[in-house]
Amino acid sequence: MPLSFEVFPPSTKEGSSQLGESLRQLRELKPEFISVTCSSQTLNLAAETLKVASYVQNVAEVPAMAHLPALYLDKADVDQLMPQLREQQVKQVLVLRGDVREQLPVKHDFQHASDLVAYIHDNYPDFKITGACYPEMHPEAKNMVEDVKHLKMKVDAGCDQLITQLFLNNEDFYRFRELCAIANINVPILAGIMPVVSERQASGILKTSASHVPGKFRTILAKYRQYPQALRQAGITYAIDQIVDLMANDVDGIHLYTMNQTDAAQQIQQDIGTLFEVKSA
Ligand code: FAD
Repeated sequence: MPLSFEVFPPSTKEGSSQLGESLRQLRELKPEFISVTCSSQTLNLAAETLKVASYVQNVAEVPAMAHLPALYLDKADVDQLMPQLREQQVKQVLVLRGDVREQLPVKHDFQHASDLVAYIHDNYPDFKITGACYPEMHPEAKNMVEDVKHLKMKVDAGCDQLITQLFLNNEDFYRFRELCAIANINVPILAGIMPVVSERQASGILKTSASHVPGKFRTILAKYRQYPQALRQAGITYAIDQIVDLMANDVDGIHLYTMNQTDAAQQIQQDIGTLFEVKSA
């Protein structure tokens, strides 16, 4: 059962040395791959992702996956970047549309993630392509049916697998997985899980409403928000509970949003590592 992690390029020197240490620890957990986000905060957005992905691949020696946001890249950028990734042995990309941000002008070669998926699939067929998906629907979609139709188009354009947005209620994932099956979306769907280890992180989830927040999670937060250690433990236990249930229900893989921290991933491996050795039915 594949376990993978997501990290982001740090913006400070301390962050860089912390990430180096985190990657050394994450590597010990034998992940299938580590993906590296691409922030649309900076104009030179792909350079940092390339640097960290190369480090993951060549120093930490874990297969790396580079995130590529379509709105902020044109064909010339992609044609420059893909050979650089290949040169660094990074052969996996997570193709995204990216979010629109006021401070950063969008480019116009690719409107949807599927446009960039098709471009990479046609021109760089040696790369494995992953796409994003949303068990609770993408926030801009009119409804779930439209969203899944668009997802089907994206997969048909050349996605080899999908990773979900974080979710806190497994029932949302199971419903979504059924819809995908009905829509004939047959690629593996890795479940994106974020162990919530701090009040700040929990508040972020509540504020963006990126995810439907179940009552059980809100109760834990209300009870422990002033006790950082207790909240951390409760947050990791909540994630473990989700993962055990997902694995028992034959999920294709678990993708942990690590936020560049390793303690949650280590705890998960320590508590339920043997589950990852059980083969799927
Ligand atoms: P799309 O697949 O293009 O979908 C976006 C919306 O457009 C949906 O509502 C969809 O229904 C609609 N749509 C798609 N195709 C069509 C069509 N042909 N016609 C009409 N409507 C259509 N962002 C970053 O900037 N950097 C990152 O590193 C990053 N990493 C992420 C990792 C994961 C696992 C996930 C789930 C998200 C990540 N994001 C990242 C956020 C992502 O960029 C946003 O969620 C973005 O709003 C949508 O991206 P997408 O690739 O799902 O877009």
